[in-house]
Amino acid sequence: KNIVIAIDGYSSCGKSTTAKAVAAELGYAYIDTGAMYRGVTLYLLEHNIPFDDLGRVEEALHQLQITFKRNRRTGRNELCLNGAIREDEIRQMRISNAVSEVSGIVAVRHAMVRQQQRMGRKRGVVMDGRDIGTTVFPDAEVKIFMTADVHTRAMRRQVELADKGEQVPLDDIVQNLQKRDYLDSTRSESPLRRAPDAVLLDTSHITIDEQVDFVLERVSS
Ligand code: C5P
Repeated sequence: KNIVIAIDGYSSCGKSTTAKAVAAELGYAYIDTGAMYRGVTLYLLEHNIPFDDLGRVEEALHQLQITFKRNRRTGRNELCLNGAIREDEIRQMRISNAVSEVSGIVAVRHAMVRQQQRMGRKRGVVMDGRDIGTTVFPDAEVKIFMTADVHTRAMRRQVELADKGEQVPLDDIVQNLQKRDYLDSTRSESPLRRAPDAVLLDTSHITIDEQVDFVLERVSS
């Protein structure tokens, strides 16, 4: 069955951890749409393309090929720009600090949404992002909207960054999360919001296993 499971919500609520585990459990594909916006951001920064130069941004979207490559050792899908793996770089704070500006560009969203729709309907898929249940797959069979209190989210993100060798003060992370949530929820094109038929899941006080079970229960019911 070509079931789509859409997992949307605020930054760093555990969307990708949950989505990955659900996909593994069901044998579905997993697509991290945030990684795609991060990839566009890295590309624009690297080529010194100002975010408000629409002509050059559109040109970049034509030149840029975004793909995922499965790492056989870790089992993870890694983001590639024009064939080169860039997974570690797109997770850096400098990208987190710029990505919400880039994801607000209408041309960028249209290109990403088109590609996500192409990738999504091939087989069962778990897709996480901000607008999956509202815009990318409004007819998704299962829709989850995740939240958590900002302090919990920041602490989790700090550990993730430290694992990758980046030490970031908690305040900086809190500020980044709040700024992204604000920009993501107020942009003109498909802002972050809960689809009317999405089930709310607050992950502040539950474990990852509980999050995964919650989603799996929605799939089988
Ligand atoms: O999921 P992640 O935190 O990596 O997403 C990074 C950024 O990409 C978000 O803050 C948001 O600006 C953008 N994004 C989006 N729509 C999506 C997924 C991510 O606008 N479907």
